Amino acid sequence: MANFLEYQPTRENYWRSIVLFGRNVASYKFALAHALLELRDQGSDFVSLEDLSEPFARHLCGHLKAAPKQSTSSSSRYLSACAKFNSGELSAVELHVATQRFGFNNVLDAFHVVNQQPTNVRFFVDERKINGGIRLTEELLSLKAGPDRVALIDEIDARWRLVETAWDLGLSKQLIRVEHDDDAQFLWVLKDRRRISVTSSRAALNGYQKGRCFYCFQAISITNSAGPLADVDHFIPHVTGRSLPRLIVDGVWNLVLACRDCNRGSSGKFARLPTTGLLERLHQRNEFLISSHHPLRETLIAQTGATDSERRSFLQAIHSEAKANLIHVWEPPQRGDQTI
Ligand SMILES: [Zn+2]
Repeated sequence: MANFLEYQPTRENYWRSIVLFGRNVASYKFALAHALLELRDQGSDFVSLEDLSEPFARHLCGHLKAAPKQSTSSSSRYLSACAKFNSGELSAVELHVATQRFGFNNVLDAFHVVNQQPTNVRFFVDERKINGGIRLTEELLSLKAGPDRVALIDEIDARWRLVETAWDLGLSKQLIRVEHDDDAQFLWVLKDRRRISVTSSRAALNGYQKGRCFYCFQAISITNSAGPLADVDHFIPHVTGRSLPRLIVDGVWNLVLACRDCNRGSSGKFARLPTTGLLERLHQRNEFLISSHHPLRETLIAQTGATDSERRSFLQAIHSEAKANLIHVWEPPQRGDQTI
């Protein structure tokens, strides 16, 4: 976790640390993050609790429809109100009142806390006591706009889907495994022996790479509106041979987002093996994934090992085995600021 903030603490990095690394007991933080990105476009830096309650409740009710478990505790007065609204037992006005009374009790205080510590950068100031609302800061107002804003929203949603899916499965953490569908480029989990799509692989991985190509740090896009889509690439290529089962190579530990120049440009990677320098970077990226809470953490640990040194040994062994078959290694020129 510390590494994530040390390398390049832009305001986007702080934002991502809040969304990706918070230890969630309920999904309110995701609803608030999504609402904040909407509200900052409204032209005023002050947002009353009344104005905040509509988008906040809308996002929670929307997710609650698809995933009934939005909290680790067995009952919540506010989530019950959202469920009643979804089933028609509560009107929009009653939901609005319930949101203002119960919806913000902890989330406004906890939003800027990551790993038990408040972040230096703050995206709003709590003015509930003096003005009955929150004041959006310059840091929030100057978060990247345009396609990057869409990417930030997609990242919130991807993280939210992963967390609520883990709660929904209700399994012990050791049993939750997130897998990647290479054709649909979706992450999925098994539920009652059926595959359930969770979220786009791109949106789930982008936050951990901070919107840059894994190999060359060129800016990448996870939405069609912002230029060519990034490729979901297998760091250790598929063609490694029968010695490495496809199941292992398809693991989340081996997936990175790459720009098209790197993956299939004139001097692109194709089926070549990245250098050991890049292998070190992959290890760092995987440690980022492990510092977020379930279910990616459990998946990575199950796939690559329980300790840092076990995970290093795993990567070394796979890389050596692949090198014996593929012989040549590959590394691109750097095309942007280093972020991992
Ligand atoms: Zn690249």
